[in-house]
Amino acid sequence: MRTSQFLLATVKESPAEAELVSHRLMLRAGMIRKVASGVYNLLPLGLRVIHKIANVVREEMDRIGALEVLMPMVQPAELWRESGRWEGMGPELARLRDRHERDFCLGPTHEEVVTDIIRNECHSYRQLPVTLYQIQTKFRDERRPRFGVMRAREFIMKDAYSFHDSQDSLEQTYRDMHGAYEAIIGRLGLDYRAVAADSGNIGGKTSHEFHVPADSGEDEIVFSTESDYAANIELATGNVPEPADTAEPLDCETTDTGAAASIEEVCRVLGIEPRRQVKTLVVHAADANGAPGENLVALLLRGDQSLNETLAQQLEGVGSPLRFADDALIAERIGCAPGCLGPLKGLGIRRIADPSVTGLRNFVCGANEAGRHLVNANWERDCAYDEAAHIRRVREGDLSPDGKGRLTIRRGIEVGHIFQLGTKYSEAMNATVLNEQGRSVVMHMGCYGIGVTRLAAACIEQNHDDRGIIWPAGIAPFQLIIVEIDAHKLENVRQQAEAMYRQARQAGIETLFDDRDRKTSPGVKFAESELIGIPHRLVISPRTLANGGVEHTCRRSGEKSSVAADEAVAMIADQLAAS
Ligand code: ATP
Ligand code: MG
Repeated sequence: MRTSQFLLATVKESPAEAELVSHRLMLRAGMIRKVASGVYNLLPLGLRVIHKIANVVREEMDRIGALEVLMPMVQPAELWRESGRWEGMGPELARLRDRHERDFCLGPTHEEVVTDIIRNECHSYRQLPVTLYQIQTKFRDERRPRFGVMRAREFIMKDAYSFHDSQDSLEQTYRDMHGAYEAIIGRLGLDYRAVAADSGNIGGKTSHEFHVPADSGEDEIVFSTESDYAANIELATGNVPEPADTAEPLDCETTDTGAAASIEEVCRVLGIEPRRQVKTLVVHAADANGAPGENLVALLLRGDQSLNETLAQQLEGVGSPLRFADDALIAERIGCAPGCLGPLKGLGIRRIADPSVTGLRNFVCGANEAGRHLVNANWERDCAYDEAAHIRRVREGDLSPDGKGRLTIRRGIEVGHIFQLGTKYSEAMNATVLNEQGRSVVMHMGCYGIGVTRLAAACIEQNHDDRGIIWPAGIAPFQLIIVEIDAHKLENVRQQAEAMYRQARQAGIETLFDDRDRKTSPGVKFAESELIGIPHRLVISPRTLANGGVEHTCRRSGEKSSVAADEAVAMIADQLAAS
């Protein structure tokens, strides 16, 4: 490709709206342009990268036997009504009506449509397992689109769905997918971590996320320093590093604490540390459907710790999404304000204690009376809990739940997410096959997403310097850029540059030939080649020819070397083959 014929839409100034380096560089390199909030054009340079990533994804999906399809972006509401998500999904689902007043949505994901394909096409266990995938545009009306294509409203995803006649078969495909995701992200040259994750509202139990560690990441991921324990912070559990108390129980007293309502105020009044207090939070228990209902549940945490809402709402009998009881309801049911609550024996509602409080002795907690707290309270004698469960948000330095090492926390960008869905959609949509015995069984299902456009952004977050992007060879928009300088001064420059460009194309090297004339200064040509991040650059000018050839620069290391003009392309081909 000749630069003179290419839309090289580079921008010199840093765009004010871009907070993230990847967003800034994608705009500056001319990869993307904003059309509306969270909606982007992919310009020629950007689309080349997206195609590269999509091809890596496609190769790895094909390798594990997944079959490519293309489902429509516009989906009929009937399918979503069958699964219950037409009502269940919030405003993220963009709904529209056609001229016949029929409801449709823009696909944010494709469980319903793919389940409909399989229930129509597969009737026997002999046709299973089967995995379908597509690389396609999704629309989610995100609450806060930001960071360019990192969190867009319209974006490209690879989504795959597998169907099985048994849980064992689902687990096998899940492992294959896990391996394929590692291969994809590894081939893109990214440092990544697979972590256990929450399945959220998509359904199912087992799920893993693939994160690219980066300070700009929106998620927090937790790992053990000494084992392979790794989880999204939403799901991470761990133990407080302080040893359990061994002090002898002291006499318990009820003390006036006046208007003190928060942990800090009670600590000040009583002259104690927050870690000596038990904090009692009251939430709604689950109704028959698992949603927040009439009854209440108390969650007990150490005063210096905070609640992990995801862990709490996953507990049997706790309403999901988690809903805190309001002050009036607490006053009506328990007879005091939230600041004076305590897990006293007579509390009358179910109490779930985090392990951070079960080992405490001589602690402080509310007395369930206005302006009163217990001092030197102890379990069994004064207070009680019904069960212990991890409900605390872990912190840096906590003990790993497997007993090996301590937890460290880093920020990560979620680039992929795989789920074992079980029978959630197949049951709701009646997707069954006949098993070996001729009995009708509901299919088990898995779903597996990877963000193609987000991967491009994540790749830039990990691969850039102050001059621009540094593409890994596998997904660079071009492998080589040939820059000719001052061709108007020496005809041989033009001839040699044209010859190298011809050779490079013959060698199958994707090459951008910067053939722009003297109106584009050498400085601009150099800066642009660095901004767009092409791995190899060959510069040819009267000066390099006088020195015996051309100048090669490696974008990543910045190393320069002089090469004979007729050997340069072969050298690049060797280096690309080795990378
Ligand atoms: P997030 O928590 O970031 O919103 P998600 O859990 O909603 O992600 P999935 O539904 O699992 O994401 O989608 C699969 C993949 O699609 C994600 O891992 C991510 O790479 C990509 N993705 C999801 N939402 C967006 C978005 N708004 N913009 C770009 N890529 C996205
Ligand atoms: Mg999301």
